[in-house]
Amino acid sequence: MQHRIVVLGAGYTGALAAGRLAGRLRPEDVSVTLVDAEPDFVERVRLHEVAAGRPLRPRPYREMFAGTGVGLRTARVTGIDVDRRSVTVSTAGGTEELGYDTLVYALGSGWDAEGVPGVAEHAHEIAGRAGALRLHDRLARLEAGRPVVVVGGGLTGLECAAEIAEARPDLQVALATREGLGDRLSDAGRRHLRRVFRRLGVTVHEHTDVTRVEAGRVLTADGTSIPAAVTVWATGFAVHTIAKATTLEVAGTGQIVVDRTMRSVSHPEVYAVGDAAWALGPGDKPLRMSCASGLPTAWQAAEAITARLTGATPPKVPLRYVQQCVSLGRADGLIQFVTADDRAVPAILTGRPAAGYKELTCKAAAWAVTHPRLLRRRHRPAVRERRHRAEPAGASAA
Ligand SMILES: Cc1cc2nc3c(=O)[nH]c(=O)nc-3n(C[C@H](O)[C@H](O)[C@H](O)COP(=O)(O)OP(=O)(O)OC[C@H]3O[C@@H](n4cnc5c(N)ncnc54)[C@H](O)[C@@H]3O)c2cc1C
Repeated sequence: MQHRIVVLGAGYTGALAAGRLAGRLRPEDVSVTLVDAEPDFVERVRLHEVAAGRPLRPRPYREMFAGTGVGLRTARVTGIDVDRRSVTVSTAGGTEELGYDTLVYALGSGWDAEGVPGVAEHAHEIAGRAGALRLHDRLARLEAGRPVVVVGGGLTGLECAAEIAEARPDLQVALATREGLGDRLSDAGRRHLRRVFRRLGVTVHEHTDVTRVEAGRVLTADGTSIPAAVTVWATGFAVHTIAKATTLEVAGTGQIVVDRTMRSVSHPEVYAVGDAAWALGPGDKPLRMSCASGLPTAWQAAEAITARLTGATPPKVPLRYVQQCVSLGRADGLIQFVTADDRAVPAILTGRPAAGYKELTCKAAAWAVTHPRLLRRRHRPAVRERRHRAEPAGASAA
């Protein structure tokens, strides 16, 4: 009987983990099933480009995983019973249960529409493909001179404001941020950002707390009304509530609390990776939701599962930051080099070289995820135990 590994979510981290597991373990020993609500891979890091009118390259999972041994299920995960080791999915044909021996939870995140009145009703988002396409449709119908407000001064908000301003110089694009513009960047990084926003004509409302979104405007804590024919809400990501509804230990954010090997601290047969995981990086700081830290977590989980099933010691995959890559339209960018725990250092790269560097980084990430056949190892060790042997929580954290 095979050991059943079920991977939930085929985004950057789930697809990488599934490909790596199938490439490292023997098909007679394990089955790897990858579940996603969508039939194709969504390059999420490019969704601001989608909003500005650049469609994503189609990458169907059937083609990506052909010949890898990974079993694909197009289905929406609606619940998990971690005590019965079963996942409930809904498909066009109805509801089904999928049993597992090892579960990899990689359902990613969506936009954070909670907390501020009017966001869910009146704002647009770019955290998911459907939202980015809706925003693109809306922008395409927007007449020249109309105001667009991007709320959120994190990397996604910065990229989004620059991308829209460059693609539609006839619109009045503004960015509202609670902090100062680029506060977490180096001095040189901040200066470059200001220069680019000036050149693109983006108005910046700094130290501005948006407290309400209405049709046609946003309202701020000090009572100011900022006109907004379109509001884009980019204040951060929130995870799906599926994990929180289980007996898994989750953080206040709803992310699954994992050890250094990405294994749940409460349920040893469950691993969480990417945005869905509450994992500590250098300096014991929680990893930021990003591809940059998500891909190593997927690699770590796949290595740990392989090692544990084959009787080896899980290796420690490096989890650290090197840079923050920010696109500022198609022809400019900012590469902010950082410490291992993600604090800006003075070194930066700007302009066209930075745009090229960012483009290469995006391509490399997508390439690594969409070529699972290349993860196949010639020598694959035998699995010692096909059925999972439950261990006390945290007992084998590396
Ligand atoms: C516009 C934008 C720009 C970004 N730029 C960068 C960047 O420059 N650098 C960087 O490091 N990070 C960036 N990020 C963040 C990065 O995209 C995420 O951190 C990364 O995608 C997380 O990977 P993941 O595998 O955890 O989740 P995802 O890539 O989101 O994958 C989750 C998968 O789960 C599936 N799924 C979700 N719910 C269900 C369900 N109920 N049932 C079945 N399937 C489901 C989804 O379809 C998806 O395929 C950006 C994000 C956005 C939105």
